[in-house]
Amino acid sequence: MPLLWCSSVHHSGFSSRRPGFKSRQEHQNYQLRDVHYYTRLEILLPFGRASEDMPMDVESIRGDFPILARRLPNGKQLVYFDNAATSQKPQCVIDAMSEYYSEYNSNAHRANHTLADEATSALEGARDAISSYFGTSPDQLIYTSGATEAINLVSYAWARENLSEDDVIVLTEMEHHADIVPWQQLSKERGVEVRYVPIDTNSFTLDMDAFEIAVQGSSLVCVVHTSNVLGIRNPIEKIVKLAHLQGARVLIDFAQGAPHERIRFDDSEVDFVAISAHKMGGPTGIGCLLVKKDVMSQMGPFMTGGSMIKTVSTDGSTFREGHALFETGTPRIAEAIGWGAAVQWLEQFDMHEVHSHINNIASWTAEKISEIEGITVYGDPSRKDSSGAVSFLHDSIQSQDLALLLDEGGFAVRTGHHCAQPLMDALGVPSTNRASFWLYNTMDEAQAFVKHLNYVVDRFSDK
Ligand code: PMP
Repeated sequence: MPLLWCSSVHHSGFSSRRPGFKSRQEHQNYQLRDVHYYTRLEILLPFGRASEDMPMDVESIRGDFPILARRLPNGKQLVYFDNAATSQKPQCVIDAMSEYYSEYNSNAHRANHTLADEATSALEGARDAISSYFGTSPDQLIYTSGATEAINLVSYAWARENLSEDDVIVLTEMEHHADIVPWQQLSKERGVEVRYVPIDTNSFTLDMDAFEIAVQGSSLVCVVHTSNVLGIRNPIEKIVKLAHLQGARVLIDFAQGAPHERIRFDDSEVDFVAISAHKMGGPTGIGCLLVKKDVMSQMGPFMTGGSMIKTVSTDGSTFREGHALFETGTPRIAEAIGWGAAVQWLEQFDMHEVHSHINNIASWTAEKISEIEGITVYGDPSRKDSSGAVSFLHDSIQSQDLALLLDEGGFAVRTGHHCAQPLMDALGVPSTNRASFWLYNTMDEAQAFVKHLNYVVDRFSDK
């Protein structure tokens, strides 16, 4: 297990109410436990379980994704480099969802008939598979529509129950809007202070000296695991340690981490993890919030109505407990089944191998395109912990035009602010082009991309 070393960690006393911890004693116990390995911080999001994984065979992986064989209307072979926006889906996910609709479509948890039983078992079976994939138990997984709803759930169900105007929330400049706007709204409503940790625009990493200052006296720290723009992985383990020493709870936005890194939630010290299914081979419309048991007991209802109640009378209602309290109305049955199939499909791989495959393509691509005159790369894909996102801009071809010219060659890349406008402001650019890779992408595709980009720049730039 990798270790992080930290020369000095300062923490203030438990001077005020710490909403993250039930009592002063709980917080002190945490601190005492921590002092034990003060300078030797064990990684808190352990990943890459030992398993009997099969070696990665990219050609055979590609065979599981029918869409990758697609040609565009101009006859060009599709090269899909927009994986950070959403990944493609393997055939088993498509089949699992279509089987549900064609063979046992029914509402779950509601009726005593065969189809309802089958739908309920499949929905809960998927919860078992997904929670096990993330190293936790089914009762700690709340289904949501995606990472955005998961973060909003923390903001409505936990923060509005536990935070007030004396509290501080720490964010970073590299957060996705999904992890900024809910906290700005809370701040407007409750007067909670929001602090933003800047990035170092030379290394594109989080300014950890500034983090150590910002985290002082905070109650909640919300950090993106891997930036969807820069591909940079934040030092989550150190961040969690520093946050907990302040008595703050920690929310990790794992939307971009989940496609290439395993997490054992129960072995980690993270309080909340927000995840999207659609970036890791699952369908759109589903994701989850993982929550530690003690923290779930501090959460109040968010959306109310059917399913989350025990009883309803004209005098009032009583509510269910655990994840059921937060899953209101008809569940996302087909989507959960599809996501369950996706994680079972992913189980066959060693995620270290997947990560290094993606990282190799990204770092090679970044190096080659940064040699093209006029191209600037934002991020540092040469870092071994960087993900597969390569953001870049050309100094005379506008990003929208460049994306269209790449599309002409069959290459699907993302263009825009990537829902990270504060980061764009820090970088001093309005938008970037972003090529992002997943496990089915190949070096051949990357080479073809670099060749086409060279051609486009040669032909269309102001030289
Ligand atoms: N956070 C990050 C880092 C993301 O990249 C995204 C998706 N672009 C989200 C949050 C939002 O995820 P979802 O689409 O599941 O709501």
